[in-house]
Amino acid sequence: MEEREAEIYAELRDAGEVCRALGIEALPFRLPERTESSPGGSGGRDEALVRLRSEIGDCRRCKLSAGRRNIVFGEGRADARLMFIGEGPGKDEDIQGRPFVGEAGALLTKLIEKMHFGDKNLMRTDVYIANIVKCRPPMNRDPEEDEIASCRGFIERQIEIIRPEMIVTLGRIALQTLLRRPDIRITAARGNFFEYEGIPVMPTFHPAYLLRNPKDKWLTWSDAQKVMGRLAGHE
Ligand code: SF4
Repeated sequence: MEEREAEIYAELRDAGEVCRALGIEALPFRLPERTESSPGGSGGRDEALVRLRSEIGDCRRCKLSAGRRNIVFGEGRADARLMFIGEGPGKDEDIQGRPFVGEAGALLTKLIEKMHFGDKNLMRTDVYIANIVKCRPPMNRDPEEDEIASCRGFIERQIEIIRPEMIVTLGRIALQTLLRRPDIRITAARGNFFEYEGIPVMPTFHPAYLLRNPKDKWLTWSDAQKVMGRLAGHE
């Protein structure tokens, strides 16, 4: 049965590609949702993320819970090849319950949409975006050690579930936390590959920093190019 489902899925996908090649944007049918048994499926990972979110519940494990409006869990493809990790939600993210939706988020989205693998441009929905802490620190201050310690298990579980081929950390806190290296400096580390549990990690600047220092945008673009090169097998 699983084999037949895979065949049906492949036939529908091929038909969809023919339609798109003919310039027909809206398909006369919907592709079935992928399941873990479908080729390239993400069903099991989707469910695991949902389970993790419900485990977090109305979390009060650290003092950031006192001032938050929403827990910002993360969003994107459960089977994403590429994962972006920032430090924590800001005001807009706290209000909307979604990561990177403010001005810095718009810049991150622009960066993602400039990236491509082969002839396919990435879309924000192709990647997974999350933060080290899931609740907004007051006045956008850096998350403190005890808060990071209470929350870091969640991002580690997200990485474990998604198993991305590569991680891009955004800013100092995400880099230091993920690598457990409080000494590491973003200015020295960015542009170089590190590793987390066997997954290559590319550190780059946080988009909020780039809004304040637009002259450094080209450095982040050069980091993104290394990521694309590695994912395409050219690095
Ligand atoms: S920051 Fe993390 S650990 Fe702290 S309350 Fe929010 S979800 Fe829980």
